[in-house]
Amino acid sequence: MKIRMSSPDLTDADRQAVMDVVNTPNLSMGPKIDAFEKAFCDLTGAKHAIGVNSGTAGLHLCVRAADIGVGDIVITTPFSFVASTNVILFEKAVPVFVDVDPLTGNIDTKRLEQAVDDLFLGGDAALKWLPRQLPLVNRGALKSVKAVLPVDVFGQPADYDPINAIASRYNLTVIEDSCEALGGEYKGKPAGMLGDYGVFAFYPNKQITTGEGGMIITDDDRAAEFMRALRNQGRAPGDTWLQHTHLGYNYRLDEMSAALGLSQMERLEALLKSRAQVAEWYAHHLAQIEEVTPPQLVENTTQVSWFVYVIRVDKSINRDRLAQMLENDGVPVRPYFAPIHLQPYMVNMFGYQHGDYPVTEDLGERSLALPFSGRMTEEEVVTVCQRIADALVAAQKLD
Ligand SMILES: *Cc1c(COP(=O)(O)O)cnc(C)c1O
Repeated sequence: MKIRMSSPDLTDADRQAVMDVVNTPNLSMGPKIDAFEKAFCDLTGAKHAIGVNSGTAGLHLCVRAADIGVGDIVITTPFSFVASTNVILFEKAVPVFVDVDPLTGNIDTKRLEQAVDDLFLGGDAALKWLPRQLPLVNRGALKSVKAVLPVDVFGQPADYDPINAIASRYNLTVIEDSCEALGGEYKGKPAGMLGDYGVFAFYPNKQITTGEGGMIITDDDRAAEFMRALRNQGRAPGDTWLQHTHLGYNYRLDEMSAALGLSQMERLEALLKSRAQVAEWYAHHLAQIEEVTPPQLVENTTQVSWFVYVIRVDKSINRDRLAQMLENDGVPVRPYFAPIHLQPYMVNMFGYQHGDYPVTEDLGERSLALPFSGRMTEEEVVTVCQRIADALVAAQKLD
C-alpha cells in the first residue's frame, strides 16, 4: 500500500474532455473557459467569474482591481500559503499581519478591528502593528489601510460579518482568499462570495483541479471588466490584439485546463462528498489517540469544504520527530502552515522575529497535514491512524 500525500480525483470522462479540446484548433481562450466560468456563477450566484492560470494570478488581479499600490496597507494573516501575502508585495504595498484565531487558524476579528482602528488613529497606536523595518520603497510612502485579505484556512471560511462591518466603516476592500474553500459556506453563504472578490485555485491537491488554474468571482461589474482586461495583456473591450489599454499580464487559462475543470465541476458534489467521507473516517479513527486534536469546526461554518486534513499534536509531543517517524514508516505528512512572517525573504524584508505572531507560530509548530484526498480508502485511513498511534508509543520509549 503506497500512501500518497494527495491525489487528483480524475475519471475517464475528465481525461476525454481534455482530449476533445486537443482535437480542435482552439487551445487558448474559447468556449470551454466561458462554460467553466459560467459553472462558477451557477454554483455561487456570482455575477462574474474570471478564469485565470493560477490562484496566485487571481489574487494578484484582485489586488490590482482594488487599486492597491505603493505604500498601501493591506491587512492579512501569516498563517497561510505565501501567495496571499506575495500578491500584496507584487504591488509594493505593505502587508500588515494580524494573528489568527487558535481554533480555526482564520483571522482573529477582534485583533483585526483593533489593528484597523489603531492604524487609522496613527502615531504610536499604529506603530505597534507595523513591521520592525520597512523596505526602502515603502518607507516614506506608507499610506493607510486600503484592504483586508482574509484566508479561508483549510476550507473553513473566516468570520465575515465582523470583517465586512469593519471594512464598510473604513471603506476597505475585502479580498477573500477562498483558494482552499470551494464549496464551503459561511452562515449559508458560499465561500468566495463573502467579500468584494473571491478567488479559487485548482492546483492538483485542491478540491477540483485543472493542473494549474484559478477563478475569480465578484458582483462588481467595473472590477470584473478590468480584471478580464488585465488577464489578457491589458486588452480592454474593443481593443484589437495589438492594442493594450492597461498594463496587463498573461494570466489566461487555456482550453485544456478549462475543459478539465468544467468536467470536474459537473461532479463537484460527489468530489466534495468523498473528501468529507475521508475526513469522517479520520475523525472516527483518530478519536482514540489522545495526543492529537482533529480539525475544529465552528458554528458559522454551515458547510466545510475539506481541502486538507490537519491535526494538532499535543504540546508534549515533538512534532518534527513524529513527522520523521511517520515518513520513515511510509506515511507522508507536512507541517502546515509554516508561518509566512518567518520565511527567509520576509525576515530579510521586514525584520520579523520568532514571537511576533504567537498563535500562528503555535499552530505552525503543532500542525501536521495527513495524507488526504477523496480517493483514499478507509483501509488507508486506518493504516495512517495506526502508524500515528505506533509512532507515539515508540516516541515515548525514546523519551
Ligand atoms: C492554493 C492556494 C493559493 C493559490 O495557489 P496557486 O498555486 O497559485 O493556484 C492561494 N492561497 C491559498 C491559501 C492556497 O491554499
